[in-house]
Amino acid sequence: MTTADPMHEVFERARAVIPGGVSSPVRAYGSVGGDPRFIASASGPYITDVAGREYVDLVMSWGPGLLGHAHPEVVDAVQRAAARGLSFGAPTEAEVELAEVIRARVPAAQKVRLVSTGTEATMTAVRLARGATGRDLIVKFAGCYHGHVDALLAEAGSGVATFALPGSAGVTTASAAETLVVPYNDVAALEAVFAERGDEIAAVITEASPANMGVVPPEPGFNAALRRLTAANGSLLVLDEVLTGFRVGPAGWWGLDGAAAGGDVTATGSEPWTPDLITFGKVVGGGMPLAALGGRAELMDMLAPTGPVYQAGTLSGNPLATAAGLATLRLADAGVYAHVDSVATTVGDAASEALEAAGVAHSLQRAGNLFSVFFGEAAARDGVRSYADAQAQDTFRHPPFFHAMLDAGVALPPSVFEAWFVSAAHDDAAVEAILAALPRAARAAAV
Ligand code: PLP
Repeated sequence: MTTADPMHEVFERARAVIPGGVSSPVRAYGSVGGDPRFIASASGPYITDVAGREYVDLVMSWGPGLLGHAHPEVVDAVQRAAARGLSFGAPTEAEVELAEVIRARVPAAQKVRLVSTGTEATMTAVRLARGATGRDLIVKFAGCYHGHVDALLAEAGSGVATFALPGSAGVTTASAAETLVVPYNDVAALEAVFAERGDEIAAVITEASPANMGVVPPEPGFNAALRRLTAANGSLLVLDEVLTGFRVGPAGWWGLDGAAAGGDVTATGSEPWTPDLITFGKVVGGGMPLAALGGRAELMDMLAPTGPVYQAGTLSGNPLATAAGLATLRLADAGVYAHVDSVATTVGDAASEALEAAGVAHSLQRAGNLFSVFFGEAAARDGVRSYADAQAQDTFRHPPFFHAMLDAGVALPPSVFEAWFVSAAHDDAAVEAILAALPRAARAAAV
């Protein structure tokens, strides 16, 4: 890329005033090399960069774009809300409606508190769990990402994995000591932790189906086992559905797994189970800064102003974000999920076939309509069921694969530890463009 490239110029300006030139680390092309694409606009399945190049997007803002970019009805709802006022610092009826819609889809969210980011939702869940149980310890799983909360950064996936960090500088020793990290999909390891420190554990937090170390679904019965163990030890189960919520189905991963006995889809289901607290983000805000914490009413009522656990936000339940979330959830009907599922199957199958044809050993892993590729013989042979497995993959194959796709006009996540996201707007033309790009990219990954 030459310095005459308008994107490179923007990136140079960005680096002068923004650390790394980006507002969130995974947007940098740290692990793939090159200049990150600065985006000027997006519509449907496409994004357009500041140099005027258009790409089929398989990032979709890292999940929120379930309906595609700038869905006209969502944009219209936001514009109408904006005309009525940007922020009031006072309650609105739309917040009540959104909480009702969330509860109707996920009954475990008996009461709902709206916040602005997934990080705030998980941070609040941790504080509430500690406040409710009077215990300090939190158990998380290696490779699960729950936002950049001090207590939850240990062995986190997503950017922490992409940049090969053990955690983060700036997290106090005391805070790190209050987080116990257990290998994912390892019930015996969790049992051992509970046997040793069960009466100190406030909560186990888990991604409903992890997608921040690549897609590593829970083994059948794993989430149900978490429910059993937490209940037996007086700890809470916090289900993080920031990424999966309202994306993998109308009731998120819980709808495919926890509700299995009552529903007709059994992704991993064995017995029905219900979390105490559940976090939402991404799709629930329809592309605007909105996230939510839900849970059992008596627990949620421990939050201020009814209870002693403090939590607040100047922009919480922001009217524009609430309007975007409501419009998105109202549009996200069975037809939307059926289309997203079918596009995910087509694209995932095609990626796997192209890699197979190019002789690249890999494992294409799915969780509902989320999927990702793990490179390497071990992944191909045994599958990837933990963070250790995910880290052992041939990460060096991703940069050439990624750049070949980008050159062909398809934007993949610039990290091998992230899921690919498709949307209801990925039509035949967009899917054809992806399929056409895959064989060459697969050959690039083979070298
Ligand atoms: N939890 C999960 C499972 C996530 O995937 C993310 C973000 O990727 C978060 C929490 C944090 O959300 P946010 O980036 O909105 O703070």
